[in-house]
Amino acid sequence: MKIINDYLRYIEAKDAPLSSNVFLIGGIKNTYIFDVGSNKFSREEIKKIKNKSIIISHFHQDHMENLKFFIDDEYDLYIGDYTYKILGYGNVIRDRYEINDGVNLKIISIPNSHAKGSLGVIINNEYLLIGDSLDGNKNGFNVSLLNEEIKLLKELDYKYILNGHNNEILNKKDVIDELELIYSKRIKNKPYIGYDLIMNL
Ligand SMILES: [Zn+2]
Repeated sequence: MKIINDYLRYIEAKDAPLSSNVFLIGGIKNTYIFDVGSNKFSREEIKKIKNKSIIISHFHQDHMENLKFFIDDEYDLYIGDYTYKILGYGNVIRDRYEINDGVNLKIISIPNSHAKGSLGVIINNEYLLIGDSLDGNKNGFNVSLLNEEIKLLKELDYKYILNGHNNEILNKKDVIDELELIYSKRIKNKPYIGYDLIMNL
């Protein structure tokens, strides 16, 4: 378990099997869990938590596989629309949803190239948990989605970004600068910015 501060800690991502970071946000009534991972260690840690709400960043198995081991009525679940298509249950967040429970959480729909219907969470206007939404997909970065994502990431109020698979604490400005650099490599009439164009950035 890695401790960030008094309200935020996380279980680290692992490679085999691939399992995402699992973030635990301490509220007064509830612990808010952002992604549940896929490995046994994460599963057992989450099971120990009594009052919990779970937010899933996106539908990939390394972020949500463990859900199937939990009993449905023991937690609230917040997911994006595409994740709902796969799971068939949970509260769908299409734009934004705010929770105040000693901590302030804003669950936000994030346009991105990696996965449809992705969510992020801003905690106390300080940390943005973003899952894999800074990554591309197999084709690279979709130009219009990247443009929407940059606009949103600029407009939102937070200082740092934490992503789904490593321990880096990224500054808002550095992330936006990097995404804008990728965006600057777009070619007219091409919907994707391929990895060949951004390899040496
Ligand atoms: Zn993913």
